[in-house]
Amino acid sequence: MGVPKKRTSRQKRDQRRASNFTIVTPNVQKCPKCSEPVLPHRACPACGEYKGRVVQKGAED
Ligand SMILES: [Zn+2]
Repeated sequence: MGVPKKRTSRQKRDQRRASNFTIVTPNVQKCPKCSEPVLPHRACPACGEYKGRVVQKGAED
């Protein structure tokens, strides 16, 4: 079995962990109807519109 020869230093350990830490930036777009911020491929949370038609029930004003 492979066993590490040397203990990984705090710096090296934290560098390794930091390389996997990425902030996922949501590419927020604006709804063409009500200009609310909406995520792509999602219906608008305010007016419920997606691809030019209302998808969500009761979301329309
Ligand atoms: Zn909208």
